[in-house]
Amino acid sequence: MDYDVIVCGGGPAGATAARVLAQGGMRTALVEKEKLPRHKTCGGGVPNAVSTLLGAVPPEQYIEAHVTRVRHTLDFGSPVLAEINHPGESDQSLWMVDRAAFDEYLVRLAAQAGADVLEQTQVMSLALERSGCNVTVKTQQSGANGVILKAKHIIGADGANGICARCGSLRRKRSLAIAVETEMPFSFDSGHEFIRQDTAHLEFGAVRAGYAWIFPKRGKINVGAGAFNHQSAKKIYGAGLGPALRQAVVDYLRALDVPVNPPELRFWMHPLPIWAGREPLSTPDGELLLAGDAAGLINPFFGDGIMHAVRSGKIAADCLLNDAPGSYTAEIHACYARNFDAAYNWMNWFYRFPRAGYKIGVSRESATRTAMRLLSGDLLWHDVAPRLRRRLIAYLLQKPLSEFWRKK
Ligand SMILES: Cc1cc2nc3c(=O)[nH]c(=O)nc-3n(C[C@H](O)[C@H](O)[C@H](O)COP(=O)(O)OP(=O)(O)OC[C@H]3O[C@@H](n4cnc5c(N)ncnc54)[C@H](O)[C@@H]3O)c2cc1C
Repeated sequence: MDYDVIVCGGGPAGATAARVLAQGGMRTALVEKEKLPRHKTCGGGVPNAVSTLLGAVPPEQYIEAHVTRVRHTLDFGSPVLAEINHPGESDQSLWMVDRAAFDEYLVRLAAQAGADVLEQTQVMSLALERSGCNVTVKTQQSGANGVILKAKHIIGADGANGICARCGSLRRKRSLAIAVETEMPFSFDSGHEFIRQDTAHLEFGAVRAGYAWIFPKRGKINVGAGAFNHQSAKKIYGAGLGPALRQAVVDYLRALDVPVNPPELRFWMHPLPIWAGREPLSTPDGELLLAGDAAGLINPFFGDGIMHAVRSGKIAADCLLNDAPGSYTAEIHACYARNFDAAYNWMNWFYRFPRAGYKIGVSRESATRTAMRLLSGDLLWHDVAPRLRRRLIAYLLQKPLSEFWRKK
């Protein structure tokens, strides 16, 4: 064997898995097709609770903003500006990271721990055998046929469009949400009334079946829109979903009086493989374990996946270090299934009746604190969803249909 474990993909899931494996003494390769740092289509918002999974707080240079307030709107109106923490407390914040720099930092931690980092090395195929796995990779020197690396186990952390799941005949019924983002320079000294470095913005009417966001970064803002109830979005927009998401971004900026020239915006569009129920996340004999987006571990309600990528990468590595690859799927299910099943159900309700959801959920004084606790895993969806659903049903029964029927 060349390695004990080959980790495919150098995002948060793969970098974390490789770091933990190398720290545990396994001969580990981290194979990444791009040269780092590389762009990753993402909003880059991650709860500071991720630091416990990273084992350390990243140096300040990798945290571009500490968000402690969220400004919500519905159809660009009915604003609600809310603090993430209880008055007098400051323990929770939403870090804003630049994914290119942040991911490279995580990969460097893996290298420091002893993992071999192979950049510009693309996994072409996997051959999975109990006696060992062959990973065919293409490098700049290898020629079209590639070269073969051998390992006992593979961790597939190659993201939403990766090939590992396919090679292991896993995740055949994926559920994909879709989102776009763009970044533009922004001067936080310009005196803008609302756009500040400690404030994230969420808008629930600009796009149907999802939301739009503005996240502060260092000297720039990240603006995006996503459709998280993808079934509804497909019915509503059909092939026009991409243009509708891009238009939502432009409308959001204009609603906040941010000068924007649409042809100058560079949009990135990417699928989000959201949790859609229990399914095997490793091959029966444990040769291949999937982590992060490759395993569909995106929260169906918020669309966040960075922390779940880090956590699942760590769980996958721990299973291999404990010589228990067969327990991986059960461990992920124990960690996520009830929570994300409830988030999925609530997502279906909320994005179908966003006006009602805004009224009975988002605009409540405590909602932002609750959302932050849900994001950081401090509170679980199955604990709050029944209450939210009861509130929503009571609200819908009280109101004539016209009250929450959408205008557009
Ligand atoms: C528009 C948008 C906004 C988002 N905003 C947020 C947000 O604000 N907060 C949040 O938590 N989540 C957000 N997400 C989700 C988040 O980006 C993902 O959940 C997260 O990146 C998953 O990490 P990962 O390590 O599993 O995969 P990735 O970050 O996708 O990393 C996979 C890596 O594998 C590499 N790779 C792929 N194929 C191969 C191959 N064949 N060989 C070798 N390497 C390969 C890729 O180059 C990549 O580096 C957003 C997603 C989108 C699309």
